Amino acid sequence: MADSEVPVNSETAPRMRPQSTVRQPCRDDYDFVVIGAGVAGSLAACLAARQGLRVLLVERQRFPRAKVCGCCLNSRAQQLLHQAGLAGGLQALSPVPTSALRLQYRGRSLSLPMPGGLVVSRSRLDAWLVTEAVQAGAEFLDETSARVMPLADSGRESGSGATETANTTALRHVTLNSGTAPAAAAHEHVVSARVVLACDGLAMSSLALLPEFHSEVSAGARIGLGATFPGTPQDSQQQPNEIVMAVGSQGYCGMVLTEDQQWNLAAAVDGRSLQRCGSPLNCLKDIFHSAGVVAPQGLDTAVVRGTIPLTRRTSRYAGARLLLLGDTTGYVEPFTGEGMAWAITAATIAVPLAMRGLSLGWSRDAEHEYSRRIQRCVMREQGVCRALSSILSHPLLIRLTFAGASLLPAVTRTLIRRVNRLPRQLEPIE
Ligand SMILES: Cc1cc2nc3c(=O)[nH]c(=O)nc-3n(C[C@H](O)[C@H](O)[C@H](O)COP(=O)(O)OP(=O)(O)OC[C@H]3O[C@@H](n4cnc5c(N)ncnc54)[C@H](O)[C@@H]3O)c2cc1C
Repeated sequence: MADSEVPVNSETAPRMRPQSTVRQPCRDDYDFVVIGAGVAGSLAACLAARQGLRVLLVERQRFPRAKVCGCCLNSRAQQLLHQAGLAGGLQALSPVPTSALRLQYRGRSLSLPMPGGLVVSRSRLDAWLVTEAVQAGAEFLDETSARVMPLADSGRESGSGATETANTTALRHVTLNSGTAPAAAAHEHVVSARVVLACDGLAMSSLALLPEFHSEVSAGARIGLGATFPGTPQDSQQQPNEIVMAVGSQGYCGMVLTEDQQWNLAAAVDGRSLQRCGSPLNCLKDIFHSAGVVAPQGLDTAVVRGTIPLTRRTSRYAGARLLLLGDTTGYVEPFTGEGMAWAITAATIAVPLAMRGLSLGWSRDAEHEYSRRIQRCVMREQGVCRALSSILSHPLLIRLTFAGASLLPAVTRTLIRRVNRLPRQLEPIE
């Protein structure tokens, strides 16, 4: 299965660092194996480790790592981190507060209030969450790729299955490959887990051996592009605490200054436009040009990273001793920090449910309950973003939305509040 993210202008990409020492797990059996150290995985590993469980957090890339992302944490994400006792640590990263979103389309500008948001680079945010997980007692292996093995009784995965008891159920096995292929095969380990949390993002590479878990890419799904590079004094077009979103017929590109005075660009672009533009860099420049935004000085020499097609639905969210979290459950384009909020929401739902499954015995009911909660607290909350994503594909709708948002600011504020609120039902898990 393809990598979900790669540098796409290789002429400016940094040279691959030499492979570091082989990573080995400290033991062969864990309570939780968490795959992927994005926000979903690291937070889940942290929450599980705090309960005194044996937790292994596995990450394919070397940390800290870059990630194509707008770096905006909305107030829902912050509230959930606060509830997890992580507000102080987040503040220590010196995130940049945001107060407004400025949309730019064909030289027209529309400023929307966006109070309470924060911008923090993903390399720092994700590295901090990993540190929190490790301090809570989790073991962390980076540069290690994980694959969930099918159950010996593979019928269990798709069958109606009776309740399993904690004592009799087969454990999940996960194959770990440390380092980079082809040498990786020489460094293979298999560990067992009482529960596996698959948090490995869009490509779901950890589930490649389980065909019942697959995702369907939506027609017209855009491609993600991202770049991070230093700001210069000449880049004076942006107000402090403002997110700028340049909108063009090729797609749209969000631009923020992060805590370390780096520009962070994150775009979702139409695949055909990308081909027409000749390169991802040209595509980003075209979006800025047609929106009437002056591109920052450093863009010409920046490394642009690209993703696989974004919008997709996943066939199922849970299986025997296996829960899917974050982008692994499907993808809807976020606009002001919803993506990480949904991933964090999933972590706060998954860990207590999985622990209940461990203590009472894993059952189909636990899997259904998890899927129900993900539907309710994540999928149902994605309607506004889905609608915005469709609007941004149609020039006429973009113009009407600009006009409507200017005339009806109260409606716009309500919609923004809606995507920022805490999910309707994060009921406690007994
Ligand atoms: C252009 C763009 C802009 C965005 N802007 C924002 C924004 O401003 N705010 C926001 O909240 N969200 C934004 N998002 C969405 C956000 O980035 C994701 O929703 C969020 O990162 C999901 O977190 P996650 O933990 O599920 O996955 P990820 O953050 O993708 O983490 C998955 C991790 O798993 C690792 N991995 C993959 N396969 C394996 C394997 N087999 N074994 C071990 N490790 C593996 C990967 O290396 C990665 O580190 C944006 C996304 C895009 C594409």
